Amino acid sequence: MPLTELAANLHMHTPYSDGESYHAEIAEAAMRAGLDVVLVTDHNVWVQGVARYYAHDGQRVLMLVGEEVHDQTRQPQKNHLLVYGAERELARHAPQPQELLNAAADVGGLTFLAHPVDPPAPLVGETDLSWVSWEVTGFTGMELWNYMTSFKALLTSRASALRYAYNPELGMTAPFAEALAQWDRLTTAGRRVVAIGNSDAHGTEYRMGGLRRVVFPYEFLFRQVNTHLLSEAAPTGDYAHDRALVLEALAQGHCFVAYDGAALTRGFRFSATHERGTAIMGDDVNNKNGVTMQVASPAAASLRLLRNGVEVGRWDNQTHALVHIAAGETGVYRVEAHLLFNGRLRGWVYTNPIYLHL
Ligand SMILES: [Zn+2]
Ligand SMILES: [Zn+2]
Repeated sequence: MPLTELAANLHMHTPYSDGESYHAEIAEAAMRAGLDVVLVTDHNVWVQGVARYYAHDGQRVLMLVGEEVHDQTRQPQKNHLLVYGAERELARHAPQPQELLNAAADVGGLTFLAHPVDPPAPLVGETDLSWVSWEVTGFTGMELWNYMTSFKALLTSRASALRYAYNPELGMTAPFAEALAQWDRLTTAGRRVVAIGNSDAHGTEYRMGGLRRVVFPYEFLFRQVNTHLLSEAAPTGDYAHDRALVLEALAQGHCFVAYDGAALTRGFRFSATHERGTAIMGDDVNNKNGVTMQVASPAAASLRLLRNGVEVGRWDNQTHALVHIAAGETGVYRVEAHLLFNGRLRGWVYTNPIYLHL
């Protein structure tokens, strides 16, 4: 059965915390950008009564509401956590990250470390908001690529701030190498860690000298770094049904991180065929008898297969790749695709792994 693919953005703010646009306006921006799902995550407040389908001119977008939880009294500020699907306020647990993760899991919530690698930007008064409590366990995954964090890292001088405020695509190349390395370390050590990519949209207007610019509008950001979800069930338009489908795809890692701003990623697939069927990204496979891994891309790209964080296969300027993995081989296999955009090779797609074990 063909998979249903849902383009989603899972980290953004409204005036309930420090964002500019309310939920209905965000839904309009998401529909214009062609997203299927948005998940709003205000700081330390779970907003009720706005999660539903929004529709306009024959289009619809599913809006879910979670929360970005962090300890506001902590000095310095660190450890931002995205909580999805808990359907209750959890901010009181923020001072103890492990307690917060446990409390979210107890009520069926999913948890993702927000911008786990987050360099400071002193020029604009932004501090380092990295995740530092790496001793915790039980989180669902991590934000491998946060567009606004990547943008912040480009603001090393007034000249670069101006350049990238008007042309952020010139500086946007890939997730941070440290974020990729941390993800690979965790999965190679046997942990299941689902990678997602998001905007962290606020719609904030910045002023520098006589210039004013919104950095960046929600609609613009919804066309940049997203998470594409894969589901065997199709959405029906029923809120509860489709919400469950989204949360299930996230829990299973049936998703990939997509830089749609470089080229549209819809249709990208990574699968492994074995004697009992076909596994997709996020799945476990018992590799007693060998598997065939397949990559299919909607645009020609440099397709790279990594095992435990190390490149083991590479197909340049291709839309398809096929590789047989011998019986008994184990490891964490994931795919990266890179392509040329504005004259530079960019990280474009980062799939969740297929885990081969015995
Ligand atoms: Zn944050
Ligand atoms: Zn945020």
